[in-house]
Amino acid sequence: MATDTLTRSTIEGDASRPNVYRNFIDGEWVESASGETFENRNPADTRDVVGIFQKSVKADVDAAVDAAKRAFVKWRLVPAPRRAEIIYLAAEMLAERKEEFARDMTREMGKVLKETRGDVQEAVDTAYYMAGEGRRLFGPTTPSELPNKFAMAVRTPVGVCGMITPWNFPMAIPSWKLLPALVCGNTCVIKPAQDTPLSTYNLVRVLTDAGVPKGVVNIVSGFGPQAGAPMLEHPDVRAISFTGSSTVGRTIGTAAAKSFKHCSLELGGKNPMIVLNDANLELALEGALWGAFGTTGQRCTATSRIIVEKGVYHHFVDRLVERARKLRVGNGLDETTDMGPAVNERQLKTDLDYIEIGRSEGARLMCGGHRLDKGDLHHGYFLEPTVFSDVDPKMRIAQEEIFGPVVSVIPCENFEDAIVIANNIEYGLSSAIYTRDVNKAFAAMRDLYAGITYINAPTIGAEVHLPFGGVKATGNGHREGGIGAIDFYSEWKSVYVDYSDRLQRAQIDRPE
Ligand code: ADP
Repeated sequence: MATDTLTRSTIEGDASRPNVYRNFIDGEWVESASGETFENRNPADTRDVVGIFQKSVKADVDAAVDAAKRAFVKWRLVPAPRRAEIIYLAAEMLAERKEEFARDMTREMGKVLKETRGDVQEAVDTAYYMAGEGRRLFGPTTPSELPNKFAMAVRTPVGVCGMITPWNFPMAIPSWKLLPALVCGNTCVIKPAQDTPLSTYNLVRVLTDAGVPKGVVNIVSGFGPQAGAPMLEHPDVRAISFTGSSTVGRTIGTAAAKSFKHCSLELGGKNPMIVLNDANLELALEGALWGAFGTTGQRCTATSRIIVEKGVYHHFVDRLVERARKLRVGNGLDETTDMGPAVNERQLKTDLDYIEIGRSEGARLMCGGHRLDKGDLHHGYFLEPTVFSDVDPKMRIAQEEIFGPVVSVIPCENFEDAIVIANNIEYGLSSAIYTRDVNKAFAAMRDLYAGITYINAPTIGAEVHLPFGGVKATGNGHREGGIGAIDFYSEWKSVYVDYSDRLQRAQIDRPE
């Protein structure tokens, strides 16, 4: 599909009007059955309309699933190394278009350019990694317990996979889902977050240009209950992969269970960073600033609790506050900006509400806490980087996911106390410890109850070839990234070939 059929304004040649993006179903760009659209606006400047997208409904989802089901018949038979070649080509094309896609992403999501370049790079990395897996997809061959019998297990695709994605990693997260699913021979319907659909369009456009056949990947844009929920009920969707809040994840998991769909849930976090007395404090400070305020704190792995041993506590808090005050908040398209806006008005309100909650709970507001709306920032959802100190681990600001640039610093007695505080939480995604004591580092690797632990690095920075996911309310045991993704998007089939020419009964025919 040529990219110039993507938008109406491209066709009509009117550059002053925002682009209109249609759904992508069965290789065609089509309008929603609802006839309704919604605007995608730039959170740094809401006068800027990034695009107009379809407000999809069940009929659109049904059409997309139907196309994916038909495409599955052929796609599952394309040899995996051939499927992988298409993904490899997509990696090259994504790398070529990286700057353009990063700029689109900063406009629709707000995070600064160096981070959106990283987001596109994550899709590139995932594509190269998954392309490699296309020549592997190994399964075990193993001796049979019976003579003249051969046994092996092979990976088979699951079928039509439904994907529902959030706005904070607008291209990376769709790539974590689409690329392993495609390499394994599945076909896909994706419903991107309503705040950031353009980055998914950019990714799918590249996949299509690289040669993914029609119907294999379909996009249905819109809002969760109308455009996402129908996938959960659809009998032809065999797997659901969701990344988002724990609240919505619970609904999704419950709905998907009714028809026994595979279901991968990647949910919230409240990630601790422990700083011990013997830490390299400058390094810990750099890590804390990046972990807490990178992506405006809007990462499920964001550093939201900093647990500091009492010997360095006051010094650390003072330095953190001094540095947080110096961060430049503004439009992410400006290369000098350190931190962009909240993604939307609702998220900004949540952040401000939690700041009030922190104050009323008795935490000390050390810096930040206010909306920034002077001058150029007037039309965006900007917030000061905010640090609370003297936070009690039981306070709501230390227990609940905020998803904004608000960090809680919690004093602790010693290493053991720090581990207890770190683990005493509903979530278990990422964790970090700064120490130069190898014994404590290894004990932390063992005892921090989380899917990811960093030693002398902040809680953010996952690489695509390692498992990504967490424990407790962070998910339901699946992992994205690495081989875990291949496990999710394939079914095991055990194959036995009996060449003895007689009936042999496992467990029954045994040597005398
Ligand atoms: P976030 O705070 O990242 O927006 P959400 O969990 O609200 O997290 O949304 C993540 C994704 O889930 C989005 O694509 C959203 O449209 C979708 N979603 C929200 N509610 C539902 C629902 N009831 N059914 C299906 N998808 C939903």
